[in-house]
Amino acid sequence: MSKKRIAVIGAGIADVKAAKTLSKKLKNDAEILLIDKHSYHTMMTQLHEVAAGRVPFTNAQYDLQKLFAHQKNVQLLTDEVIGLDKAAKQITTKYNGVITYDYVIIAIGGEPNDFGVSGVKAHGFTLWSMEDALKIRRHLEKTVEQAALEHDDDKRKALLNFVVAGSGFTGIEMIGELIDWRRIAAREYKLDESEFTLSVVEMMPTILNTLDRQDADKVVKYLTKHHVNLLLNHAITEVAADHVKIKDGENVPTHTLIWTTGVQGNTQATSYGLEKTERGERLTANAYMEAVGFEALGIYVAGDVSGYTEKETGRPTPQIVEAAEQTAHIASLNIIADIKGTEKHTYVGSYKGTMVSVGAKWGVAELFGKVHLSGFFAMAVKHLIFIMYTLQIGSLWYMFTYLKNEIFHTEHERNLFRGHTSRLGNVLWSVPLRIFYGLVWLVEATPKWVGDGKLWDPTTWFGKGSWFTNDIHLPFKWLKETADAAAGASTGAADATASASTAAETTKSTAEFGLSYSFGHEPMAVLEKVPHWLKPLFKFMIPNEDVALFMQKFMSVVEVALALALIVGAFTWLASAATAALTVMFVLSGMFYWVNIWFLFVALALMNGSGRAFGLDKWLQPWLQKHFFKWWYGKSKSIYK
Ligand SMILES: Cc1cc2nc3c(=O)[nH]c(=O)nc-3n(C[C@H](O)[C@H](O)[C@H](O)COP(=O)(O)OP(=O)(O)OC[C@H]3O[C@@H](n4cnc5c(N)ncnc54)[C@H](O)[C@@H]3O)c2cc1C
Repeated sequence: MSKKRIAVIGAGIADVKAAKTLSKKLKNDAEILLIDKHSYHTMMTQLHEVAAGRVPFTNAQYDLQKLFAHQKNVQLLTDEVIGLDKAAKQITTKYNGVITYDYVIIAIGGEPNDFGVSGVKAHGFTLWSMEDALKIRRHLEKTVEQAALEHDDDKRKALLNFVVAGSGFTGIEMIGELIDWRRIAAREYKLDESEFTLSVVEMMPTILNTLDRQDADKVVKYLTKHHVNLLLNHAITEVAADHVKIKDGENVPTHTLIWTTGVQGNTQATSYGLEKTERGERLTANAYMEAVGFEALGIYVAGDVSGYTEKETGRPTPQIVEAAEQTAHIASLNIIADIKGTEKHTYVGSYKGTMVSVGAKWGVAELFGKVHLSGFFAMAVKHLIFIMYTLQIGSLWYMFTYLKNEIFHTEHERNLFRGHTSRLGNVLWSVPLRIFYGLVWLVEATPKWVGDGKLWDPTTWFGKGSWFTNDIHLPFKWLKETADAAAGASTGAADATASASTAAETTKSTAEFGLSYSFGHEPMAVLEKVPHWLKPLFKFMIPNEDVALFMQKFMSVVEVALALALIVGAFTWLASAATAALTVMFVLSGMFYWVNIWFLFVALALMNGSGRAFGLDKWLQPWLQKHFFKWWYGKSKSIYK
């Protein structure tokens, strides 16, 4: 079979899903060309966070090379598709001329619908691309700066009036971000928070009209509590540079109108000459996600731009992430079915829930039509879903980027945990602790090397008493049992095994609990011996004396290596994590005392990048990251061709 050439137009939610599915299932049978105007996949669902400065733009910008580095049958092209010759099976691009395909998936997304209201394009802000989000972000900054210098009260009030038109998910998520942003902007520009006005203008008498009413009412309560003006039954008829006109009402003075009243299919699809739905500028699709009227020509549509009327509801597929993914999945499966001559799949939408974040700390969620959550738990679910999305597209890189930006490195306490997880300190103060902790491990490991020898004379090391002889030091009873059972077991080894007892056994009679050593008391072991439930695992790992002897030597070497790594600050995160793991292992082996339990907490504390201050990690980490990630992902580019 000759290789099929499949073009996927766009690199949005639907396109990435389609390209991943096709790449995985067709392997050597196809070449997939992913064409997008941008060199990245825009996470639309985070644009409001970028717009209001909660997260850096990199949080919503997933480089395509990083997403497809290991899909060798996917080729990237940064270009705009401006035409489609359906009969010749050719795409016309803005910069790379004409491209031939066997199958094409068109998933170029949606765009805001201004419903013909004048001035929206000229004076309003939309939120449907990274460019839009960054434009809003810069405008917010500039406007507040300007307001802070304005002496005229009316002008100042207008400048500080931020209006969102539309109370759908996007509008409410945007105003939610502005609630959090207002506090920071006020502080930075020495303004009073009460000088800011945040308004939502909605034509209908209620907000969030596709959401469960009780959930929507909770949002109303939250917005009211945070002093958001809800201008309901208000229809905007015109947008000007310094005000918006309301039907049968007074003008609202503002320099910021964010228009989120509705979505339609990307109107650029008009130039492709395909059949459109009656309303909403969407490309009509059948249940196989084929473009209606061109079924035999290998043209499929998916995502926000596709217009399939679902049999079950009689309504078009919703313009949401789940529908984008599912339509793309069906389109890909049907291309595969066509290539392989198997039966085609029909679309049946299955939507699991809705989540609306209102700022970083609060939101509502409705799951499976049954479970209703609000506040912390709703936001936790939203984060979980994002994390699952990054895993689904196979990107650990963007999972960590997400966690970093949303949880661990957020500024101004704008996260679900109100900043508790993102307080960043100067790692300089951990340097003494790091060196001390490293020295403690060195001191701990030294007798295992030196034994009865002399510390300053290495020629006397590794002899009697050290862990490098054939004496067993590990306190596991079964080692003695296996040694006794073995016919040829040497008496020396058996004696040594017998002398090895758990820490607790030697101290059992007088041991006392304490977290610091008190003179005259025997310290108490955390566990007297390996817990019953863990014994099979330990027995599996260290079944006999030979393995025990190897492990003793290995552990002695590892302890010194970790100690040195901590002292010089090399791979500090890994070294600290390893010492934490070793401590847990010693505890479970019955070889660790309560007085030393601080090892564990110090290890956790040192996973804070302390090796970057007066440590080798300052140079090692950037060097490794640069070379490792370049090797793993290849080189990111602003234009792929
Ligand atoms: C602020 C905001 C918040 C949202 N929140 C949620 C949410 O919480 N939950 C939810 O389910 N949905 C949400 N959505 C909707 C969701 O993001 C969309 O339904 C989804 O992104 C649609 O995916 P898509 O692949 O069809 O289009 P998109 O993701 O929009 O991707 C289209 C791609 O096509 C590219 N493109 C466009 N024209 C061309 C061309 N001519 N040539 C080449 N490339 C082109 C674009 O650059 C873009 O990368 C939100 C949307 C926004 C804007």
